[in-house]
Amino acid sequence: MKPRAGTGSVTKSVTKKLYIKTYGCQMNVYDSERMADVLAPLGYGLSDNPDDADLVILNTCHIREKAAEKVYSDLGRLKPHQQRKAEDGGRMIIAVAGCVAQAEGDEIMARAPQVDMVFGPQTYHRLPEMISKTKRAVGEKVLDTDFPPEDKFDHLPEERVRKGEVTAFLTIQEGCDKFCTFCVVPYTRGAEYSRPAATVLQEAKRLVADGVREITLLGQNVNAYHGDGPDGREWGLGRLCRALAEIDGLARIRYTTSHPRDVDDDLIAAHGEIEKLMPYLHLPVQSGSDRILEAMNRKHTAAEYRHIVDRLRSARPDLALTSDFIVGYPGESDQDFADTLKLVTDIGYAGAFFFKYSERPGTPAASMREQVDDAVKSERLSTLQQLLDSQQEGFNASMVNRTLPVLLEKPGRHADQLVGRSPYLQPVHLDIPDSRHAAMIGTVIDCTITGLTGHSLFAVPVRDGQAGSDSTNSSNTVDSSNSGSPTPDSADRGQERISA
Ligand code: SF4
Repeated sequence: MKPRAGTGSVTKSVTKKLYIKTYGCQMNVYDSERMADVLAPLGYGLSDNPDDADLVILNTCHIREKAAEKVYSDLGRLKPHQQRKAEDGGRMIIAVAGCVAQAEGDEIMARAPQVDMVFGPQTYHRLPEMISKTKRAVGEKVLDTDFPPEDKFDHLPEERVRKGEVTAFLTIQEGCDKFCTFCVVPYTRGAEYSRPAATVLQEAKRLVADGVREITLLGQNVNAYHGDGPDGREWGLGRLCRALAEIDGLARIRYTTSHPRDVDDDLIAAHGEIEKLMPYLHLPVQSGSDRILEAMNRKHTAAEYRHIVDRLRSARPDLALTSDFIVGYPGESDQDFADTLKLVTDIGYAGAFFFKYSERPGTPAASMREQVDDAVKSERLSTLQQLLDSQQEGFNASMVNRTLPVLLEKPGRHADQLVGRSPYLQPVHLDIPDSRHAAMIGTVIDCTITGLTGHSLFAVPVRDGQAGSDSTNSSNTVDSSNSGSPTPDSADRGQERISA
């Protein structure tokens, strides 16, 4: 996954090539973009090609199985390019960043001598110093996996709005204090930290002034947000959303990823009161069994989760939910798995991420006895997947013939086609003449959904004239590259689950 090229002012012209490979979640995509912002004043411009880059950064993720092995194999592929560049008299600096770097920094340094810099998610604002240190001499290595006392965000340059983007991510919270027994985030991202509300609002206003219409607030545990408010009080996520909703020109607000335990009364009320807060919520539950939830240290029961969902749906009846599930957690019995299926059946999801449990070194669950046999995990995963897929298909099919507001985001792959998003993050394809795209991108228009393919919807504008009179391509052609995402929010925004 590549960070997008920015268009904001850069104080120095591009003289060096920067290649960043981003693994994993949207928080990492955000971090990669910010790294590019930090490096732009040093003359680094983003390149699509690692082969002759001056600086390669692998921004890693520890959520997936065998995450470290994937990093080592990418490092192996880079080595000959680094050598060739050196033979030509140049230098390719190779850096490993992100959660694998944080967790396994020393080992990376020992196993991969081609690596010049290893740094964690909390220190990339120090990139200029790290580069200058490593440039002093070939062989000078930098390992920076501190949790520094200074606030990273205070040392980052202003985020540059990416050309033509009408949606943006904004990190408001990082880290986690929950310590679920299967998760590395508390160890790699550190303790919970919330950015001050005034800073978030200022950044949001700037994004909107630059053309952004939809902001997704990011955090590993985003609804644990408790930032200092401009009124001297601590603000929760509900209060923050209310203030964001007052920004003229901002059409949509989303947030991800939430923990059920941190869904408070004010946030539930906010879902009922704020029209700009989209009726689409990712609320991971992981399991429907109280026994497994306790073993996971999730700090809530299945009944409490159901109660939260009931309250959210009372506040916002059109709310659609997505979730994360882990099957085959150590000790999971047939009955525990049946409880999960029952919960899924009762709640009804619009999409989900689902995984077989896999050990994460250093987490409590990794050393638990009663690891579930892989064949059992696979069978359970397949059963759960069928149920969740059928729910998602039903949810998408229920959109047909409905009128939905669609935020128009960008041209489609085909001529005279625009792609937007429904409130539920489904890609929506419209036949709109190219000549009208510039005027329409960034607007929200009511559309009648006429059909679907995979996970993509297609639609026609409700009001005459929005499509333009020369629209002749009404063949419901959907760009298949934009369909097939298991969940709408993992579609072409490249999002994987963050955490919580
Ligand atoms: S799964 Fe989420 S809530 Fe649990 S420890 Fe990881 S980041 Fe924290």
